[in-house]
Amino acid sequence: MRTAEIKRRYLAHFEANGHTVVPSAPLPAVDDPNLLFINAGMVQFVPFFLGQRTPPYSRATSVQKCIRTPDIDEVGKTSRHGTFFQMNGNFSFGDYFKEGAIKLAWELSTNPVDKGGFGLDPERIWATVYLDDDEAIDIWRRTGLPAERIVRRGKKDNFWSMGIPGPAGPCSELYYDRGGAYGKEGGPEVDEDRYLEYWNLVFMQHEITNVKSKEIFDIVGDLPNKNIDTGMGLERIASMLQGVDNLYEIDEVKPILAKAAELTGKRYGQAVSHIAAESHPDDVRLRVIADHVRTALMVISDGVIPSNEGRGYVLRRILRRAIRSMRLLGWQEGPSLPLLLPIARDCMAPSYPEVAAEYDRISQYAYGEEERFLATLSAGTTILDLAVTDTKAKGGKVLAGDKAFQLHDTYGFPIDLTLEIAAEQGLRVDEDGFRRLMAEQKANAKADAQARKTGHADLSVYRAALEQGGPVEFTGYREVSRETRVRSLLGAPVAGEGEEISIVLDATPFYAESGGQLADLGVITFGGGKVEVLDVQSPLPGLVVHRAKVLAGEVRAGDTAFAEIDVDRRRAVSRAHTATHLIHQTMRNFLGESATQAGSLNAPGRLRFDFNTPSAVPASVLHDVEQQVNEVLLRDLLVHAFITSQEEARKLGAMALFGEKYGDEVRVVEVGDYARELCGGTHVERSSQLGLVKILSEASVGSGVRRVEALVGLDAFGHLAREHVLVSRLAELFRVPGDQVADRVEQTVAQLRDAERELEKLRTQLVLSGAAGLADSARDVRGVALVATEAPEGTSANEVRTLVQEIRGRIPAERPAVVAVTSRAGGKASLVVAVNAAGKSRGLSAGALVKGALSGRGGGNADLAQGGGVPAAEAPNLLLAVEKAL
Ligand code: ATP
Ligand code: MG
Repeated sequence: MRTAEIKRRYLAHFEANGHTVVPSAPLPAVDDPNLLFINAGMVQFVPFFLGQRTPPYSRATSVQKCIRTPDIDEVGKTSRHGTFFQMNGNFSFGDYFKEGAIKLAWELSTNPVDKGGFGLDPERIWATVYLDDDEAIDIWRRTGLPAERIVRRGKKDNFWSMGIPGPAGPCSELYYDRGGAYGKEGGPEVDEDRYLEYWNLVFMQHEITNVKSKEIFDIVGDLPNKNIDTGMGLERIASMLQGVDNLYEIDEVKPILAKAAELTGKRYGQAVSHIAAESHPDDVRLRVIADHVRTALMVISDGVIPSNEGRGYVLRRILRRAIRSMRLLGWQEGPSLPLLLPIARDCMAPSYPEVAAEYDRISQYAYGEEERFLATLSAGTTILDLAVTDTKAKGGKVLAGDKAFQLHDTYGFPIDLTLEIAAEQGLRVDEDGFRRLMAEQKANAKADAQARKTGHADLSVYRAALEQGGPVEFTGYREVSRETRVRSLLGAPVAGEGEEISIVLDATPFYAESGGQLADLGVITFGGGKVEVLDVQSPLPGLVVHRAKVLAGEVRAGDTAFAEIDVDRRRAVSRAHTATHLIHQTMRNFLGESATQAGSLNAPGRLRFDFNTPSAVPASVLHDVEQQVNEVLLRDLLVHAFITSQEEARKLGAMALFGEKYGDEVRVVEVGDYARELCGGTHVERSSQLGLVKILSEASVGSGVRRVEALVGLDAFGHLAREHVLVSRLAELFRVPGDQVADRVEQTVAQLRDAERELEKLRTQLVLSGAAGLADSARDVRGVALVATEAPEGTSANEVRTLVQEIRGRIPAERPAVVAVTSRAGGKASLVVAVNAAGKSRGLSAGALVKGALSGRGGGNADLAQGGGVPAAEAPNLLLAVEKAL
């Protein structure tokens, strides 16, 4: 039975029994800060189980995409662990309980295939239950399982909780006996590969507190509403129903494995037994490749891109592990993903059409990552090989931590790869040392950033200021100045003229730097003094700190104050911020939804916008983006900000940064009907106030992230005006109309290049014209024709070499001949020597003569050699040395 059919039957069975079919949530677990990826079907229903929200149905069923990163090391070694897998599940929210769950699971497992079931042999099914869950045992007995195939197990295996106070309960797992060929007899406690767990039924019935660990807690009572959560591994049951040994051999995975085997020339299935633990290492690698390529496809499809952190790092590791496994199997032909990933796509597209529809985007990220990794590999491997050889030569067994760190830091060489390569060479790596260096680097970077921003490393000062008067009100959305009061001065009770001080006000129109928008600057005046605001930061949510310099008088806590921002600067920054929103939206219009913001800077009149996209944006697209943005300005759209609920904002389609956490209320900024985005920044009132947006450049700032820089308003105009002046001046100099300047420059450059070449030719001719005369002047030195001379000042090294060979060619071949020419340049002398065939038969060698004259330095062969680097005045001595050596 094909995997897609198993999935269909599962959902159909539960739908027929009153369950609402709920689609899978995307793989990234955006609502849970402790989880990178969804790892079970119940995750999207957690708020229902915790009673935080009321479910719109009392029974649900789903097939959830899951990633379990902790299982990555099991892949290929057991028969049943994938990094990506699909979990079929049925859920009851205060509806049916144990009896219902067991009955529904039993029916689907054992109903004959022609009646819509899976047709499993009831005689081979085993169940485990929690130690004292007699109720479950009783139900199983009544359902038809004999006592000897019901096993009691402890908390570790058969009690479910989330590791926090809240709902918990016993579980009951279903196992299928794959038969004697798969391992030892005796039930799941003896062999979990032979007895394959395919379904876990969780009976949420208790409430727990005092949770010390997964196994140590107190049960406080029973839940008013008992729930059911089940999970059946789709791949596991597919391996059973397809009669294959493991989940890497099912229809959705095996073709990738087969392709990898074909490419590397390996024969899969070399072990004689069915037992996973006895597999040939090559088979394990092929399974890893198949699993990881499929996982990468699904992960990228759900919007994750390779990076050095969080989900992106998991993806990077998975991709790199697959690529490297291919290499370990002998693949050396360059990129392998372009051959493997399309197979994964064809396997998964029947169930997930989006992997085919978006294959261009998905494959660009995957292929790009492989290219980068191959480059990293070739640079890093050389360095690592040297370090390994070095360590071994010194009799060491441990590769130094700073080596591993350097490889990571300079070459982006992942530590797991260093570990793997070192292990292959019989070395360990000082991992502790490596981690210490990594931690140091991280801490330094953090402290640096903190110190730069706030000038204070200690947050307790800020906490005190916040507690003193509650959150500081930011009034700058609607006003540019305001009457207020100094709540506190940080670090000193009073500040006098010339001093720098940090001021907290009760309320402020000053915008603190955040979300890429630079801080407002301005002045604050008091009864007795005045300060200039140099920077504004928000070191804690709700706290605004003005870093200021006292211009006159004194400032003290409790003073009334008048705060006034620099309006021109604010306007110029706001223009940049609104422009950023427009560029963001327009990029998405042209490059697709995945071109999301990855960072930004909004400064007066200029902006930087980083976004995710796999490759360079073509100049023509950039031009179109710029054009469209400027068209939007002319439409004079109203810019409007409002507060709404998170759900409402989502419904409106407001762009929110991927994985970002917001509270319940969010602020949405919209530019007419063109762009809508969650944003806390300040903006212009109408799009026409931007005047003009000019994109200056587009470049890469790391893997899969591009950056555009742009000017806005008068700064954009100023830039264009300056360029215009430049073009006019060039046009004048070249005496052509402005639009022909480029052609003319190109022409002129080409002419210059031709002229240079011509000149070079003439000079060579000139030098060579002396060759005949010099050949005639050869002196006989102990039976050898010697020409020893100095080239005219300014002769290039190339020319000297040509000259030497030219002279040699003009001496009759039967005479043994040596030609030695020196030249001077930059205060140094060099020497070129040539020997002809007859000379070589006499045992003369150009290389030896040069080395002799230059005491060992220089290079070449018996025919022609050169050397230099001695003071220019030595030139005549070099010639004498050659002569003496004959
Ligand atoms: P195991 O002990 O075999 O690792 P588990 O106890 O971690 O399994 P559960 O957390 O109960 O599994 O998940 C429910 C079901 O999901 C399991 O019964 C199994 O069928 C499936 N499953 C769990 N982990 C994986 C995996 N890494 N690959 C494929 N299927 C899995
Ligand atoms: Mg597990």
